[in-house]
Amino acid sequence: MTAPETARRVAVWTEGGPRVVDADQPVVTAFDQGLGRGDGVFESVLVTGGRTPHLDAHLARLHRSAQITAITDPGEDAVRALVGAVVAGWPAEVEGVCRVFLTRGLGDGTPPTLLALLSAVPAETVRQRTEGIAVVTLSLGVPADFRATAPWLLGGAKTLSYAVNMAAQRHAHALGADDVVLTSLEGRLLEGPTSTVVWAARGRLHTPPVDTGILAGTTQARLFARAEDDGWPTSVTPGTVDDLVAADAVWLLSGVRGAAPVTRLDGADRGDAGLSRRVQELLAR
Ligand code: PLP
Repeated sequence: MTAPETARRVAVWTEGGPRVVDADQPVVTAFDQGLGRGDGVFESVLVTGGRTPHLDAHLARLHRSAQITAITDPGEDAVRALVGAVVAGWPAEVEGVCRVFLTRGLGDGTPPTLLALLSAVPAETVRQRTEGIAVVTLSLGVPADFRATAPWLLGGAKTLSYAVNMAAQRHAHALGADDVVLTSLEGRLLEGPTSTVVWAARGRLHTPPVDTGILAGTTQARLFARAEDDGWPTSVTPGTVDDLVAADAVWLLSGVRGAAPVTRLDGADRGDAGLSRRVQELLAR
């Protein structure tokens, strides 16, 4: 459903609290550091059934991202109120994506900019969740253990500086694929440009360690907790592309797309051993 009430929405944090504004009206100054330098952090939160059931995990990560980037954190109550304002009245039958942006504002000790944007989940995202994705592996060119010792590279923070991530996806599209698994300089698995890599092998679910500087995925954490409860063991495993080739199944996980099964890896078709249904069922619980 794409009725007018599900069109794009924007809420902005003001001194007086959240304010929902016309989605096309200007809300930040052109001098905002988030615009000029990508100096900010963000979260993409799934809206389903008119609610944000996984908001808490995103709030916790936004807080960590703000700490890592030394951006003033407006606090959980402010972000919760802003998200609540933009989501209020969103139709239950339309899946939405709520993006929360927190930028350094004008810098020099001025207040941060805090915005929430809401729009319908694109049909292509839903298609990838249900039909699967073709993926290529691309090197990020950074050693796997480097970012843990290089705080200026902002490992673990979900920053607004996604130009490289988007370029990697465009490169994949030019190669006829949908998405990317990024690898380290020595060929270790990192993450997708907008997702966490998870694979099933030897009766376990695996995901790469976050000390490589990748983002701690909220969807991966939820899946692993529920899988463990369900008797499906999980491991943090420093894998390589060969591990994905040999795996029973591979998924790219993210809050909005969910678990997208990898049906093609570097040009070779691959299956999921019928495991995607269980993964998606665990995530939906
Ligand atoms: N890694 C990156 C770089 C991402 O952008 C995302 C998506 O937000 C993820 C991993 C997956 O995180 P989540 O499951 O919390 O959406």
